[in-house]
Amino acid sequence: MKVHVDMNLCQSHGECAIVAPDVFHLGDDDVLVWHDDVPEDRRAAVEEAVNACPMAAISIEDE
Ligand code: SF4
Repeated sequence: MKVHVDMNLCQSHGECAIVAPDVFHLGDDDVLVWHDDVPEDRRAAVEEAVNACPMAAISIEDE
């Protein structure tokens, strides 16, 4: 599955990096970096990040 983050919305709160640290992390300058191609078995963690994001910036695109 593809993971998309709208960087116009993201404010680097980091909740996504707490619930799914293997997919999302904050770089040195607090800019979010993420894997945009995530194995299907990590879907539950990504969905948790979608729900945790206070800016609703994360979306999943099914292939
Ligand atoms: S939780 Fe949302 S706002 Fe915070 S870093 Fe992740 S994508 Fe950005």
